[in-house]
Amino acid sequence: MSLPKGVQRRDFGDGERLATEGPPVYGEPTADGWRQWDPRRSKLGAMLETDIDTGLVGGETVLYLGAAAGTTVSHVADFAGPTYAVEFAARPARDLLTAAEPRPNLIPLLKDARKPDTYTHVVEPVDVLIQDVATRGQAKVALANRRFLRDDGRLLLAIKARSEDVTADPDAVFDDVLEELTTGYDIVETRSLERFHEDHLAVVAEPSG
Ligand code: SAM
Repeated sequence: MSLPKGVQRRDFGDGERLATEGPPVYGEPTADGWRQWDPRRSKLGAMLETDIDTGLVGGETVLYLGAAAGTTVSHVADFAGPTYAVEFAARPARDLLTAAEPRPNLIPLLKDARKPDTYTHVVEPVDVLIQDVATRGQAKVALANRRFLRDDGRLLLAIKARSEDVTADPDAVFDDVLEELTTGYDIVETRSLERFHEDHLAVVAEPSG
């Protein structure tokens, strides 16, 4: 699949790796202003390493749920337009603020993604909703935030099976989450992220009529 504009494969000394152009955030290798994007530390990076079509072209407006310390969302902000980053835990959010400092298009929101009413007044309609919250109720979070997604927008979701139920068969968990998602989204594609992230499923979906 083609990479979004602003994401390239570059050699940092051990073969071609995904990279974006911007200031480093998590001690990743850098060269000529570019920074390596590690798919083992990023579900979206892992999605770009599979053949799933994320539909990302670069320059999109993004709402990112579960920003943590900014590892992935900082790469997103390097190639996207306005990037709203929601994280509810204060500790990682401190590092997120640091990642946002040199990135004027990265807007950190210390908010609970289960309560979108608390940031409706800040977030504009977005082209892409990216979700990596790794918490119970992942479908509910995606459904609650569908309101921000343009009609022709896309949801890029990483489902972590163990966050829903540590004891259940991951495939059964994925089926349940996907079924719940279909109450507000049409599923376009799914792909296992097993190569990089154990028991994770990547989902591309569009808001349904
Ligand atoms: N996406 C990050 C990255 O690749 O850099 C890693 C995210 S980590 C797997 C999941 C994050 O989601 C945690 O930082 C957690 O605090 C956050 N999270 C979980 N539930 C949340 C919620 N309801 N609202 C906001 N953040 C949430």
